[in-house]
Amino acid sequence: MPTTVLTTSASITCLHPPGRVLPPPPAQTVLFIKGEPALTAANLVSMSIVGCADSYTPCTKVAQLAESKKLFVQGEPVLLAGAGKALPTGGSVRASGTASALFA
Ligand SMILES: [Zn+2]
Repeated sequence: MPTTVLTTSASITCLHPPGRVLPPPPAQTVLFIKGEPALTAANLVSMSIVGCADSYTPCTKVAQLAESKKLFVQGEPVLLAGAGKALPTGGSVRASGTASALFA
């Protein structure tokens, strides 16, 4: 089922409010959705989580998000809304994009 393609304005949060991902720098300059660069797998390395309220082992980075199997930009799959994983614990993250923008 098609899912929303994420852009740099996507909301990506861990399960410990107010933990969230700071908008990553664009990793590509080819595909824009409503003026925002689409996120691709190349963005994962720069996705830091700030504000995680887990005081024991706070989430610091995004390890994984859903990737399109159909839509690639410069060889990298675009990232999709849905569930993912955070480092260092493998805890869950949630990503949601701009409604009715682009689906893949
Ligand atoms: Zn967290």
